[in-house]
Amino acid sequence: MKKLERFCPRCGKKGISQESALCGACAALAAGLEFKEIIVTICAYCGRFRLRHKWVESKTADDAVAAVASEKIKHEGQQRTQISSSLPHKNINPGIDLDFDIDVSFGREGYRVPGRIRGTVCPYCSKQGTPYFEGVLQLRSPSNELISYVRNDIAKHQSRGIFITKEIPERDGIDFQISSNKYLRALGKRIRARFSGEFKESARLFTRDRQTSKDVYRLSVYFRLRPYAVGQVVKKGEREIQITSIGKRVCGIDIKNGKKVFLE
Ligand SMILES: [Zn+2]
Ligand SMILES: [Zn+2]
Repeated sequence: MKKLERFCPRCGKKGISQESALCGACAALAAGLEFKEIIVTICAYCGRFRLRHKWVESKTADDAVAAVASEKIKHEGQQRTQISSSLPHKNINPGIDLDFDIDVSFGREGYRVPGRIRGTVCPYCSKQGTPYFEGVLQLRSPSNELISYVRNDIAKHQSRGIFITKEIPERDGIDFQISSNKYLRALGKRIRARFSGEFKESARLFTRDRQTSKDVYRLSVYFRLRPYAVGQVVKKGEREIQITSIGKRVCGIDIKNGKKVFLE
């Protein structure tokens, strides 16, 4: 027999211990705590973390979590919250997210809410030139699936010195600075094979390495995800179009009259 899985009745989260009980996060919200996603961005090299748009030093990752969580978890009234975290025993690496639990005590009750550590390289460490940034992956209109595909792929290659040295949110997506042009080029090919979209690759001379007197290129890989798949039926005005091919342009046929139509 399959074990009965319990869900949080409010948000649908799985793995609830008691019947009709809320998950930790929903229980905390119901008790009057206010918070959104608690993401702690930590430098994998020096342990500095981001707090109110500044980089702050910390002795341990737990200190950083406590500082960020106290900042993010708000409530009315005079009662104080106490925060402790149970961090996973894993290394923090640039470009890698780690999920963990934060224990918040508020009044007489305790709540377990989800937190996430995001490894990165702080500006102090990246200035020292150690994590050398070579290329940039520009994702536009990315889906969560595409972003996690990229993060996972980078995680798989970290033992080869591949990591995200910086993430820059853009109006319509995100830029990942990546430590290897060679890897970035291969990643671009994999993205292109797996997702449909507009793809561009360009390289420009960035600098000349003084020690080796070799030219250093900065590679840019641009990928704009298209929300289409072959076989999918989409509406264009009053017409229904079935997509037949996705190349430089998205092409389909009008279901009613069989005529060829370009969608983009
Ligand atoms: Zn819930
Ligand atoms: Zn640092």
